[in-house]
Amino acid sequence: MLLAADANGSYRLEEARQLLADTDDLALQCIEQPCAPEAVAEHAALVATGGTPICLDETITSLATARDAVERRACAVGWRSRSGG
Ligand SMILES: [Mg+2]
Repeated sequence: MLLAADANGSYRLEEARQLLADTDDLALQCIEQPCAPEAVAEHAALVATGGTPICLDETITSLATARDAVERRACAVGWRSRSGG
């Protein structure tokens, strides 16, 4: 069974880092929108740390914001196997 979580932008960066560390062994499919919608750099920092994939929701309000998020590597969602692949 694949599980994902939606944080609805509830965490500051350091809190989100802790959330990712605390939930890493759950092998979540992704954590959606850990930080505030405008926190693109923070999401990019989370993606750069690896582990649970990050996806965005509230940040993406247009094609331009989607392109910006992808270009800044602020989201990275793929299928994650239970073995962490
Ligand atoms: Mg959402």
